[in-house]
Amino acid sequence: MATEVFAPAKINLTLHVTGQRSDGYHLLDSLVVFADFGDRLRVTPASEMSITVTGPFAEGVPLDQRNLCWRAAELFGETVSIELEKNLPHAAGIGGGSSDAAAVISAMEQIFDRAIQGDPLTLGADVPVCAVGKAVRMQGIGDQLGLCHFPPLCAVLVNPGVLVPTPLVFQGLTSKENPGMGALPQPDVPSDVWDWLVAQRNDLQAPAIAAQPVIGGVLEGLSGLAGVRLARMSGSGATCFGIFEHAEFAKRAAQHIQKAHPDWWVRAVQLS
Ligand code: ATP
Repeated sequence: MATEVFAPAKINLTLHVTGQRSDGYHLLDSLVVFADFGDRLRVTPASEMSITVTGPFAEGVPLDQRNLCWRAAELFGETVSIELEKNLPHAAGIGGGSSDAAAVISAMEQIFDRAIQGDPLTLGADVPVCAVGKAVRMQGIGDQLGLCHFPPLCAVLVNPGVLVPTPLVFQGLTSKENPGMGALPQPDVPSDVWDWLVAQRNDLQAPAIAAQPVIGGVLEGLSGLAGVRLARMSGSGATCFGIFEHAEFAKRAAQHIQKAHPDWWVRAVQLS
C-alpha cells in the first residue's frame, strides 16, 4: 500500500547564530515556518530500497544513500521504494532534503504503524524541525523545538539560481556570539508581530551576500515592491523571501519578478 506525503519548503523567518560549541556546531535561535508549496513523495513497502526522482528540480538529486530520503528509510529500519517529485530547488536554504526526509519518516510511521526508533537529528539539524511542519522556534543545534503561535503570512520566495556553500557562509560570520530572538511577540496584536519580525535578523545573510552578491540584488528588488513588509534570506541561502500585507500584493510581486528574471525560481506562497 502506497502512502503519499507532502514535504513543504522550510523558511527561516529569523536565524540568529547565538554561539558555537567546542565541537564546532553552531548554536541557533530561529523561527521556522512552512510554505504551502513543496515536494511530493509516494512511499511503498518493497523488498529492496529504491528511489526515483521526477519534477522540475530532479536533475542532480542523488539516487542512492546520499539522498536524505534513503537515509531516513534506513534509520527507520525498513525497505521501501520512494517516488520523489522534486518541486523545490536544492541546496537553496529552504530545507528540501530535510523536509523530504521528515516526510519519508512520517509515511513510514503510517505504513508500518510504529514510531521511528532512531534520532532524526542524526540525519541533519533541520530534519526534526521539518517533522513539526508548522511554526516552530528552533534553538540549540536543532534539538530544542518549541511550537509557536504565529499568524499565517503572505510571501514570495525568490531563488536566483546560485549556490551558497553552507560552510563558507558560517566561516564568514563576523561574530559567533550574537543575541537570540528574546521573547516572541503576542500574535493577537498584529502590529507587534510586524515590528518584532522586522527587528530580527538572519546572521548568515551578510556572509551569503559577500559570497554571492546577486542575493543582495534580490533583497533590494523585493524591498522596493508595493505592499512589502520585509525582505530577508532563508537559511544559508540563496532563497530569499518577501513578506507582503496581502496575497494580492504577493501575487503581483511574483509576476513582476518572474517577468524581469525568467531564469529565477519565483513563487507566491502562504507561510504558516
Ligand atoms: P537547508 O535549508 O537545510 O540548508 P539545503 O539548502 O542544504 O537545505 P537541500 O535541498 O537539503 O538544501 O540540499 C543539499 C544537498 O543535499 C543537495 O545538493 C543534494 O546533493 C543533497 N540531497 C540529499 N537528499 C536530497 C533530497 N532529497 N533533495 C535534494 N537534495 C538532496
